[in-house]
Amino acid sequence: MSETYETERREVLRAVERIVAAGLVAGSSGNVSRRIATPDAELLVVTASGVPYHRFTLDDVLVVDFDIDPVVGEGVPSSESLLHLAVYRARPDVSAVVHTHSVYASAFAAAARPVLPVLDEQVVLLGGAVEVAEYGPSASEELAAHCVTALGERAAVLLRSHGVVGVGRDLDEALAAVELTERVAQVQVLSAVLGGAQELPADVVRTEQAVYRMLHGFAPQ
Ligand SMILES: [Zn+2]
Repeated sequence: MSETYETERREVLRAVERIVAAGLVAGSSGNVSRRIATPDAELLVVTASGVPYHRFTLDDVLVVDFDIDPVVGEGVPSSESLLHLAVYRARPDVSAVVHTHSVYASAFAAAARPVLPVLDEQVVLLGGAVEVAEYGPSASEELAAHCVTALGERAAVLLRSHGVVGVGRDLDEALAAVELTERVAQVQVLSAVLGGAQELPADVVRTEQAVYRMLHGFAPQ
């Protein structure tokens, strides 16, 4: 029997269940992937396009190669597969990508405003501000390219007028990135009632970014 990558597909299914339980997605919005390096090729384990989450099963987690040709499963891979692949190609350190349309992060994306560094954990775990990628139509090469540019070496990025993308060395890290982005975005909105969140001083951000780089295995600057 040929390889079905069931373990990796179950991991992606569990990640889908977590973003649904956390209220970060609705309908069939958002998507999840992880990469697998095999001796022959790199593969993408990715959610199928357009399947409502209340009907989502293991059969809706597909495996494709990096040309998006099918390896396991018969569904249509996520329409944002190009974006996921662009991140994997640009970031060898990244092995998982989670994309959601969570409400507070989407509010920043709609306003085209970055989630500024206002909490210590944000810089240590996400690498700094969550920047806004230039606009690109959904599923386009253009959006994928803008996403990679705005992401840089950080762990999360906003897609203008669209949503948020979190990345990590595994699915837990990528999930943590979208969850934390959502929480910091919510905190910034609530802080506005209290006079506005105060951005961390630049020297604090630099120190915390050094910690982020160390924790994530980047070479010191
Ligand atoms: Zn989306």
